[in-house]
Amino acid sequence: MEQGKLLVFSAPSGSGKTTIVKHLLSIEELNLEFSISATSREARGDEEHGKDYYFISLEEFKQHIKDGDFLEWEEVYRDNFYGTLKSEIERIWAKGKNVIFDIDVAGGLRIKRRYPTETLAVFVKPPSIDELKIRLKIRSTESEDKINMRIAKASVELATAPQFDMIIKNYDLDVAKQDAYLLVKEFIG
Ligand code: 5GP
Repeated sequence: MEQGKLLVFSAPSGSGKTTIVKHLLSIEELNLEFSISATSREARGDEEHGKDYYFISLEEFKQHIKDGDFLEWEEVYRDNFYGTLKSEIERIWAKGKNVIFDIDVAGGLRIKRRYPTETLAVFVKPPSIDELKIRLKIRSTESEDKINMRIAKASVELATAPQFDMIIKNYDLDVAKQDAYLLVKEFIG
């Protein structure tokens, strides 16, 4: 099977990586398809099964772990599991496309280690932890408790930025989108 490239975008929750990933997906010449992760968390807002995530039960998730179906998985927050199914990459590569991931820092680095030459691992950096708090509050899809959990994790994640191939500073979204486009375009050649 012809192997495409893997574009990993990782960042603390609220950094704007999802917006950047969606922007890249809209650019046809990049020939990207989104890696749909499996998760045991509930769908929020207008999220759809099979589009944003494969929403599965905790039991089902644990069965996939046992069966060795995941390329990587993480308990990103307590009882909230997220993982990339091996079949997802095979599905996308079989179509002759490049795979783009919106996943957490640990998962992103794991994919880079597994596929060092095929992967471009990009860290999206928020202006500051305070700004991150404001963004998560504006998004207001989670409770105060969950927001605090995400902020606590963000400080740890920020420390891993130097392990990525590239860092994009998301101080201005339009600039960040353009930076991301240029990086991906150059990498896929
Ligand atoms: P959210 O609940 O906001 O959709 O995602 C929470 C975190 O889990 C985000 O950082 C998101 O990128 C990450 N995530 C989503 N899918 C995966 C995955 O397949 N593997 C890993 N390791 N993290 C993921």
